[in-house]
Amino acid sequence: MIADGSISSRCISRSPSSLIETLTILLGISCFHALSNQLILNEFPMPELPEVENVRLLLQENLRGHVVRNVQINRADVIRSRWTTSGGRHRSLLAGGSLHGFHRHGKRLALEVEDGRVLEFSLGMSGQLLVVSMNPDHVPDHAHLIWTLENPSTGQGSRLIWRDPRRFGGLWVWSGMKVMVERKWQVIGTDALEMEYESFRERIGNTRRSIKTALLDQNLIAGIGNIYADEALHRAGIRPRRMARRLKRQETEKLHHALGVILREAIEAGGSTIQSFKDPRGGEGGYQSAHAVYGRSGERCEGCGSTIRSMALNGRTTSWCPVCQK
Ligand SMILES: [Zn+2]
Repeated sequence: MIADGSISSRCISRSPSSLIETLTILLGISCFHALSNQLILNEFPMPELPEVENVRLLLQENLRGHVVRNVQINRADVIRSRWTTSGGRHRSLLAGGSLHGFHRHGKRLALEVEDGRVLEFSLGMSGQLLVVSMNPDHVPDHAHLIWTLENPSTGQGSRLIWRDPRRFGGLWVWSGMKVMVERKWQVIGTDALEMEYESFRERIGNTRRSIKTALLDQNLIAGIGNIYADEALHRAGIRPRRMARRLKRQETEKLHHALGVILREAIEAGGSTIQSFKDPRGGEGGYQSAHAVYGRSGERCEGCGSTIRSMALNGRTTSWCPVCQK
């Protein structure tokens, strides 16, 4: 589990004062497209570990200590759990609390208030957490939940908005971090940034699936999706269809190392924006320009000059270089 600035990110120095005025923190990623050169044209990339980590860092930097004055529920079915906090549903949605803990495990995110209440988020395909000013014009469509916040040091108000047009994401209410971690976060795989090599090798070695499929299994390793699986396999020189348990030790070492390096590079770059990821100043994540294979089918590999290929593997577009990857 990642919490409280355990990843430092030099590119995420945001100015809280500019944030409210400029509308937005668009935190979240939705419908990336630019997939026209890929096999599966209607595939929507989902936020992965680096994008969710950027959401966490931005919320932490801009909302720590802010008090939840009110919660407006426009669409209750985005809340996937039963109410677990005493005091009614507004209290379950952190009303009255001061934002205190900003946590992430894999692609999941959780906000905690000082008395221990927790809200867990899964961004799914199009889930976004937006921080906007109190200007009513700044409330976007599909604003399912709206928290009114107050910065106790300045008295300035702002809004935190959950919007999710495709509604594959959602929220879960928990009475505390301990129960959430035990019931949910410990059940899925170890966070990809925290996984030690021996544990990685053991998990990969015990599956009969292809290495690409294994990397996408959140119960084995949490946080990796299509973008970073393709990029890590290219960096490690491994073809996505190779059987995971047949990889040589040297190959699993390279892959484990490549995953860590690529995920950290992507966090530093603000994640990958194909369409709409924005930071508080309206900037975008920059890692998409560093992609070696993802979204580049038909282009030349910068490593060897060959044409990057793509195929469908378990329903997902997979891109690789036939020369660099063995
Ligand atoms: Zn190549």
